[in-house]
Amino acid sequence: MENMEYDVVIVGCGVGGLYTALNLPRDKKILMITKSDVESSDSMLAQGGICVLHDPDDYEAYFEDTMKAGHYENRRESVDIMIRSSRTVINDLLRLGVRFEKNADGTLKYTREGAHSRARICFHEDVTGKEITTTLLEQVRKLDNVKLAEYVTMVDVVEKDKTCQGIKAQTKDKNELIIKAPFVVMATGGIGGLYEHSTNFPHLTGDGCRIAKKHNVELEHMDYVQIHPTSLYTENKGRSFLISESARGENAILLNNKKQRFVNELLPRDVVSKAIYAEMEKEGSKHVWMSFEKVPQDVILNHFPHIYEKCREEGYNILKELIPVVPAQHYFMGGVHVNSNSETTMPNLFAVGETSCNGVHGKNRLASNSLLESLVFAARAAREIAKRTVGENAV
Ligand SMILES: Cc1cc2nc3c(=O)[nH]c(=O)nc-3n(C[C@H](O)[C@H](O)[C@H](O)COP(=O)(O)OP(=O)(O)OC[C@H]3O[C@@H](n4cnc5c(N)ncnc54)[C@H](O)[C@@H]3O)c2cc1C
Repeated sequence: MENMEYDVVIVGCGVGGLYTALNLPRDKKILMITKSDVESSDSMLAQGGICVLHDPDDYEAYFEDTMKAGHYENRRESVDIMIRSSRTVINDLLRLGVRFEKNADGTLKYTREGAHSRARICFHEDVTGKEITTTLLEQVRKLDNVKLAEYVTMVDVVEKDKTCQGIKAQTKDKNELIIKAPFVVMATGGIGGLYEHSTNFPHLTGDGCRIAKKHNVELEHMDYVQIHPTSLYTENKGRSFLISESARGENAILLNNKKQRFVNELLPRDVVSKAIYAEMEKEGSKHVWMSFEKVPQDVILNHFPHIYEKCREEGYNILKELIPVVPAQHYFMGGVHVNSNSETTMPNLFAVGETSCNGVHGKNRLASNSLLESLVFAARAAREIAKRTVGENAV
């Protein structure tokens, strides 16, 4: 068994993990691990975009949209923190080099998704997650104080005196590692790998939650799982390809087998999913249809080029024909309970991103709130760790 020592261990290389590393002081020795390669995180898959408070007057509406989608079960304090921090995060992403779509005058261009009362979503084509995550990854790779290790899996945390003191991990060759660190941040993503049909990577199996439970760390809303209304229907096995909600935001519509509309496509995801399931049951079908007829051709080719390409690969031309779509497991609103600084109920064990539950989403996530939530609360975890270590050094 190999022993290692770091100041901070970050488990997971999606936006949650990467932004934590970028916000930690440069004098900390940090290890980041990922179960797979660094490219394979759900953060790389995000299509639609990332929300931002459009302007100060948008606060009430954005707050209400988030609460309404979450069935008013959201933690109000977390929603407030996220919304108030959103512009700072977007400005920071721009500073780091993220290429959000802009208008001719240089201002940010915003798109809209279901359950948003206005356009307030920043995007980069239909690959926003890849644009953000690749940029963050490039920035992390420049840091001398951060070591990135691929194909290393956290299998447990090290608990001593009811406090987290590191993790146990396993390499691809089954070598066991004890990695000691006064602070551990779990950024292990979602649970889609536990489902037969999911838009998530299959290696995302809720490891952080399972390990937390083993140590009696508090979990929250473990049954709050979001089903996305529209993934491309296929008979093939494997990860389901998502047809972004912003397609519906830009006027793509849903049709049954009789080619009739049966739902307002801009209702929250759980409501639209329910309507699709009901229609499938009524018609005895395995999917419903999506039409891009009302979406201008230049919007399809410029805003949704990757969806267009992927559908072509699967044999459908969205410029000319309907595509079959079906709901799939997509996002996990519950997780390891954390406070507003992302600390779990085990001192020195933090959780950020989809693995954590800070209550922002309530019972159902508002579209494009999760990248933002991951980033805002990752920065807060980093700030809290920095504050405590400064305190320690001073003593
Ligand atoms: C298809 C798709 C489209 C989406 N579109 C949007 C969107 O438009 N806007 C939006 O806001 N959100 C979107 N989301 C949600 C969003 O992408 C995720 O919620 C967010 O990226 C989660 O980031 P994360 O850092 O928490 O986890 P991830 O990015 O999933 O990263 C998890 C990391 O943890 C690692 N890991 C897991 N278990 C272990 C272990 N035991 N040991 C070591 N490493 C481990 C993984 O290897 C990975 O590196 C989308 C999600 C999907 C799947």
